[in-house]
Order: sequence, then structure tokens, then C-alpha cells
Amino acid sequence: MNNKFFITTAFCLTALQYTFAQEGMRPEMSEFYEPVTPVVTPGKDLPGGGFTAPSDAIILFDGKDLSAWENTQGGAAEWKVKDGVLTVDKSKGDIRTKEKFENFQLHIEWRIPEDIQGDGQGRGNSGVYLQGMYELQVLDSYKNATYVNGQAGSIYKQTAPLVNAMRKPGEWNVYDIIYTAPVFKEDGTYRTRPQVTVMLNGVVLQNNTTILGTTEYIGFPRVVKHGAGPILLQSHGDPSAPISFRNIWIRRM
Ligand code: MG
Repeated sequence: MNNKFFITTAFCLTALQYTFAQEGMRPEMSEFYEPVTPVVTPGKDLPGGGFTAPSDAIILFDGKDLSAWENTQGGAAEWKVKDGVLTVDKSKGDIRTKEKFENFQLHIEWRIPEDIQGDGQGRGNSGVYLQGMYELQVLDSYKNATYVNGQAGSIYKQTAPLVNAMRKPGEWNVYDIIYTAPVFKEDGTYRTRPQVTVMLNGVVLQNNTTILGTTEYIGFPRVVKHGAGPILLQSHGDPSAPISFRNIWIRRM
């Protein structure tokens, strides 16, 4: 029996089995009703493109205060809150959520000041650190060239975004981030690596991208075992005017 004959015969037998398996089936035999899908009430549209939190989200910043946040020493988060908007205070360092997360959907809106100055990485630099470990870059990438795996929407120093969907300075940019936490082996290496999908202003920038390891300014990513982690916002030392955030919420998955 030659190979081609064998493959053809195997294919025919499989097709025959499949045909017989379908006999006697009724539509309801491939329909199920439990468990019932939970109902979530979606948020409301906001001027500028974002939308408010759905009913099952954890609110991280709703414009009022920073009670969900702390500084990286565990003290009070001291960035500025005014008119419903959170603005980086570069003298106070990074801030992070008090709560820690594994898999999540994160919504966060950010705005580059209209009068931003500077260029490259020195123009509106901040970042959203997933589980406090992996930086999704925030930068003014509107007509501002830099290394492509360091522009807005990059997994910093790893993966460039698929496209540049930035709005111009002064307008709100909307990140929707779907993150799957890594699973580690006993020896501290990844069993499954972290994965992330990112949309900016409704446009996919990262499509289930594999994160290779820690965010390193110099050198390559490292594999560092960790558990649940916070959302951390970067206070970058670039000399440009500080950027702002609003409407931050997260859903555990
Ligand atoms: Mg950054």
C-alpha cells in the first residue's frame, strides 16, 4: 500500500465516521443552557472617545481621588487630581494600584499636553506596567519618531505596535488592554508566557502578543518568577510637561 493510497483511505474512513456520527442528531443536542452567562451593563460614552466602566468593573480612578493607589514604598499616591483628571507629578515617582491582579481587562485614558515640547523618548513619556513587570509604552507618538519598539503602544524594547493610531496632543487616547498572566514552572521559568492584546482608540496595536520577559532599558528581557501584581503608572524623568490620565477601570477575568 503506497502512502498516497493510505492517506486517501484514512481520509475516507474519517469522513464516513463523521457522517455516521451526525446521523440521529437533533439541533438541540449541540445546544447548552448552563451555566447562564452573567449580565454586565456596559458603561456610557464619554466625549473624546472613551466610555465609562461597566457594572462589574473595579474602579481605579473615577476622577475623584487616588484611594485605589499608593506610591512604590506603600505610602500615599501624591500625583495631582484636578477637574476629574489625574496628572503625573514627576517629583513623586511611580504610582501603583493597592490591589494586585492576574488576568484582566484594563481601560485607561491618557492625554499628552497640548503644548508638549521635546522629541523622541523625551516627549510625554510614561507607561502602564502590567502586573508591575511589563511596560506598555505611553508616549507622544503623534509625528514624533523614535525606535519603533519604544513608541506608544509598544511592549517597551520588545514588540512594536502594528500601527500608530495616536490622537494629537490635547486629545484623549484610549487604551483597552486584555492581559493573560504568565504561569511559571517550579524552576522559575515560564510554563506559559504573558500575553497581551492592546487597542488604542479602538484600533488593534498588539494582537495577543507574547511578552518575552521583564522590561529592560539596557539589555534583553529577563524571566523573573512572580505572582499577582499591580497596575503601575510610570513617572518618567523626561523634561517635557507631565501627561494626564482619566477613567481607569479593570475587570478580573
Ligand atoms: Mg515609558
